[in-house]
Amino acid sequence: MATAEQTKIAIRCASCGKEQATKTTANGKLRLPRGWKSVHEDSLCNACFSAKYGVWAVLLPVTGFLGDGNWETFREVIREQWDEATRLSQWAYTEMYVRDVRREPDDQKLKPMSHIYLYPEARKNSPHYHRIPLRDC
Ligand SMILES: [Zn+2]
Repeated sequence: MATAEQTKIAIRCASCGKEQATKTTANGKLRLPRGWKSVHEDSLCNACFSAKYGVWAVLLPVTGFLGDGNWETFREVIREQWDEATRLSQWAYTEMYVRDVRREPDDQKLKPMSHIYLYPEARKNSPHYHRIPLRDC
């Protein structure tokens, strides 16, 4: 008897229409072939995904300073903010890892991860990031 994992069918790229043989998962969904990506409900081949999505850089030109600002002060402030953003990011990553669900020996299935909302703690840990939106929780 064939299992769902052994059933071979074709997956179709939602952009170019390319088809590639794939299998179904135990849940009956199509398994994405290597390099394919799922975007919303669509499956995209590697070429179409690479053509549509990429890493973008945003440049904000600074032409001058208000008041008595200068480049030295500007660089100092940017450096401090960069350090703080890095520290906050590493803290958040660690907190997510620490609070993640651990599989116990008797578990048949990994339990779902509970909702984690870090903004209130982030705000306490980084008080000069006072513009972080804080919703009621
Ligand atoms: Zn494609």
